[in-house]
Amino acid sequence: MIPITTFVGQRVAVFGLGSSGLLSAQALMQGGAEVIAFDDNEKSVAAAQAAGVTTQNLRELDWSKIAALVLAPGVPLTHPTPHWSATLATKAGVEIIGDIELFCLQRAMAGAACPLVAITGTNGKSTTTALITHLLKSAGIDAQMGGNIGVPVLRLAPFAPGRAYVLEVSSYQIDLAPSLKPTVGILLNVSEDHLDRHGTIENYAAIKTLLVAGAEQTAVIGVDDRYTRAAAERLERAGRQVVRVSVEAPLRDGYYAEGSRIMRSVAGKAHPVAQLAGIGSLRGAHNAQNAACAVAACVALGLDLAQIQKGLVSFPGLAHRMQQIGRKGNVLFVNDSKATNADSAAKALASFPNIFWIAGGKPKTGGITSLAEFFPRIRKAFLIGEAAADFASTLEGKVPYEIDGVLSAAVDAAARDAEASGLKEPVVLLSPACASFDQYPNFEVRGKAFTDLVLAVPGVAPIA
Ligand code: ADP
Repeated sequence: MIPITTFVGQRVAVFGLGSSGLLSAQALMQGGAEVIAFDDNEKSVAAAQAAGVTTQNLRELDWSKIAALVLAPGVPLTHPTPHWSATLATKAGVEIIGDIELFCLQRAMAGAACPLVAITGTNGKSTTTALITHLLKSAGIDAQMGGNIGVPVLRLAPFAPGRAYVLEVSSYQIDLAPSLKPTVGILLNVSEDHLDRHGTIENYAAIKTLLVAGAEQTAVIGVDDRYTRAAAERLERAGRQVVRVSVEAPLRDGYYAEGSRIMRSVAGKAHPVAQLAGIGSLRGAHNAQNAACAVAACVALGLDLAQIQKGLVSFPGLAHRMQQIGRKGNVLFVNDSKATNADSAAKALASFPNIFWIAGGKPKTGGITSLAEFFPRIRKAFLIGEAAADFASTLEGKVPYEIDGVLSAAVDAAARDAEASGLKEPVVLLSPACASFDQYPNFEVRGKAFTDLVLAVPGVAPIA
């Protein structure tokens, strides 16, 4: 845990007592602050009390004595409407912050030279965060990974000279972290998402841009959409060091993908800096964007190209995102359970030529009609869950399919058909384009079920 000493002797209110909120309360207490915590859920309040945290209904608080309100990232700050605790704090002129802000304040106070890489974007945050951590670690650097990726930032090891931190930061967290000044900030991309929390796309893009605008040394920006392109131009005009990344077109200055190579161009002179061919965990143009941004960040931090290439080759990838599970003969089994909508499934479908596709679950608006351009790659579809009938009608006459209902039947059938196909590189791909909630509690449990089923198919060798 990282104790927070910047509020020593002061009273701090904490609202939202999930794992990161509770940890914020404890880190503040350990650092000498007086904490008063609350949650709308009685059970969370009771759990915090049991953990030794003082709780009180924040409606009854004397806000004039409060130094800050620490809000858990899931609690609405502005949209669709501010949470009542945020309204009370604002009325009293109390600053509202999150756990990443506590981390940043403490980092500044600690004064230890700890490089900080912060990553945001609509898609690819977790992959890029994990990849950078892996690249740093494989170069022998003590790299700590946390934030939105699932490890609350205050759970990481305390600041020590040379220790690096790699943080995935969501737009909600940026909103609550005005002191976020990473050594290297990365903005991968911006597309419409979470507008319920940020109102307009312009507002959402502006919040994401704050992360790179605050970068102390380098702002790495994927410039393949108009919002990030505009952000790069704005920052450069303001005299900031911007490193552009594209997987769509060569750049005069910056990093870009050319086939499976990552090129670096300086004043129009380009040379290759990394090679992604044969790296199963980084297939597809979307991963080229993640990898190119990761390479740019590591170069900015001083890693040499040989170290970076070594790390890229050994990157295991993240669970449930185009994760290679096993192989039987030439059949590859891939778990992409995280693809809970058609846009995400498109990334996986674009990455393989001969697909035995397991899809379905709790349907999302629009179904799979937007995936028509990938239908020629699908040798057969194996449909499960509530969406099966709807998906079948979209595929009718275009792609052979069968309705299997449940994952176990789909895995058996897809494994059988892929093996019998005689194709060169058949892939059994779970990329559901649906939420999991009709049959599983979440996409992780669905992905684990798929993995277990695949590894139980006779003759399948696991891929570590
Ligand atoms: P996030 O943490 O931003 O949700 P992840 O790294 O977990 O992103 O990837 C989630 C899914 O998003 C992947 O399975 C893939 O379908 C898609 N994805 C990953 N990287 C990108 C990218 N750079 N651009 C577009 N889509 C991406």
